[in-house]
Amino acid sequence: MDLHNQPRSSVDTEGYWQAAREGRLLFQRCRSCGEPVFHPRPACPYCLSDELDWEQSEGRGEIYSFTTQHIPLHQAEQAFEPRHLGIINLDEGFHMFAEIRTGSHADLRVGQRVTVWFDDRGDGVTLPKFEVAS
Ligand SMILES: [Zn+2]
Repeated sequence: MDLHNQPRSSVDTEGYWQAAREGRLLFQRCRSCGEPVFHPRPACPYCLSDELDWEQSEGRGEIYSFTTQHIPLHQAEQAFEPRHLGIINLDEGFHMFAEIRTGSHADLRVGQRVTVWFDDRGDGVTLPKFEVAS
């Protein structure tokens, strides 16, 4: 099934996707200004330095915002189940948009602690997702 929404790897993101396949969440940190940078990119968005180093996140953070997607993005998604999507503020100071696994939308709260898990889709792509911390 080709949904045309596969994450595409590039020279700037291959390290990120490889780490995800290994169950590790990476982000970048600017050697010049020290800011954490996410998503992976060739230059710091704060100071434009191209000296970015990879760091491994502990994968813990809190929900900044969330919603529930009730309609599939593509008609090919036959077995679509509503899913929860949110912006996660990671403890290292960056944020990312990701799916949040939970039983019910009503279970989610802004500020709730979450931890990363890795969804190996079996097609060579492993997606970092989050779930409510126990
Ligand atoms: Zn910088």
